[in-house]
Amino acid sequence: MTEKGSLIVLSGFSGVGKGTVLKKMMADHDNYAYSVSATTRLPREGEVNGKDYYFLTKKQFESMIGKAEFLEYARYVDHYYGTPKKYVEDKLKEGKDVILEIEVQGALNIRKMSPEAVLIYMLPPSAETLKARLSGRGTETAEVISGRLKQAYEEIRRIDQYDYVIVNENADECAERLHSLIQAQHLRTNQNLAFLGRIREELESFS
Ligand code: 5GP
Repeated sequence: MTEKGSLIVLSGFSGVGKGTVLKKMMADHDNYAYSVSATTRLPREGEVNGKDYYFLTKKQFESMIGKAEFLEYARYVDHYYGTPKKYVEDKLKEGKDVILEIEVQGALNIRKMSPEAVLIYMLPPSAETLKARLSGRGTETAEVISGRLKQAYEEIRRIDQYDYVIVNENADECAERLHSLIQAQHLRTNQNLAFLGRIREELESFS
């Protein structure tokens, strides 16, 4: 019944568990395509080029900007981050639900160019939980953690521009709730115009 896939934008504070939830959701359900972003930041330990990000030089990134190869891009903490356009367009045409895991500025740019995109913000159950999760990673200094919490405080002002918020208390439950939310988008009237047109034609033949 669905005509094409939905464009899903997922944002959330650093440390909220977006990656874990998405991994679970995509392991349990097919029909998702995860858009791998390009960035000019250096790979972190364990990150793989082409899987976590396409790691590019500034020159390569700017050449892609010049050729209009990004759906959106943003500068974030002194680096470029961008969504390659072709993959997203191809997968949507195939009927896949395409997931963009991007920050707020990029999300709001997507909203402007694709009003039908679904913007979802993932929140922790409480600020205390977020702090505990960031500390629990054991990789960040107290200073970095306090910077992330400050950033979260700034970011929460802009969340009212998102369509949905989803709380990650438990990753398994959150993955299922996210999946249900995304699947519900396929029931929207504007996602079913071809089907509605067919029913209308059928009814016409009876009237
Ligand atoms: P990190 O450096 O921690 O991997 O990512 C920093 C921020 O950039 C995260 O909020 C991440 O979601 C966001 N980000 C990753 N890829 C993109 C992208 O293609 N476009 C935009 N606008 N943000 C991105």
